[in-house]
Amino acid sequence: MSIQENYRDIKSRLPENVQLVAVSKTHPVSSIQEVYDLGQKVFGENKVQELVEKHPLLPKDIKWHIIGHLQTNKVKYIAEFIDTIQSIDSEKLLKEVNKEARKYNRKIKVLLQVKIAEEDTKFGLEIEEAKSLFEKFVNGEFENIEITGLMGMATFTEDENQIKNEFSVLKKLFNQLSQTKKLETLSMGMSDDFPIAIECGANSVRVGSAIFGRRDYSI
Ligand SMILES: *Cc1c(COP(=O)(O)O)cnc(C)c1O
Repeated sequence: MSIQENYRDIKSRLPENVQLVAVSKTHPVSSIQEVYDLGQKVFGENKVQELVEKHPLLPKDIKWHIIGHLQTNKVKYIAEFIDTIQSIDSEKLLKEVNKEARKYNRKIKVLLQVKIAEEDTKFGLEIEEAKSLFEKFVNGEFENIEITGLMGMATFTEDENQIKNEFSVLKKLFNQLSQTKKLETLSMGMSDDFPIAIECGANSVRVGSAIFGRRDYSI
């Protein structure tokens, strides 16, 4: 299927309240433009350098999300235009985002990335760390960021029950934190597991290869 057919197919499988972040990493600007022309406005990238190269070549009303591990020394390159940073995985990074956002007199939306996968290859905060950062935010510690939700990745496995359990842990935390201050976004699910994520309460999914096709990291 073409990118356009893939996109329409994915959109038709998402309930109306679920946001789609089209993950365009490794794919060319022309493919992003194709999907944009079908009405998609939210795109996700995982590398700062790639994003900084693509950003000026594409429409200004695209909302860019960073979804991959972000090094603190690179925040300055995206602070002026980034819509949402989904991958806050340390207090140090959150402080840096806050500091850089202040320079542009803006508020950057962020999601706390929580470690829910059994496998220990994935970045993310422990549940207790996430709670403590959120508390600091609610108490007014970070003036130039807005924690709008949580992000998590499940273990890469065929075992649907395990995936469900992991997503459910994040949904539970989402509900808990929302009692203190309402959170908007629960970002869980990728090409292979987004239907399960939605079942478990995700209202934002990050879909790459099911739209753009397989990624070729050799180029
Ligand atoms: C690459 C990536 C995705 C998209 O993965 P697909 O399997 O291609 O849909 C989603 N989330 C994160 C954090 C990623 O790095």
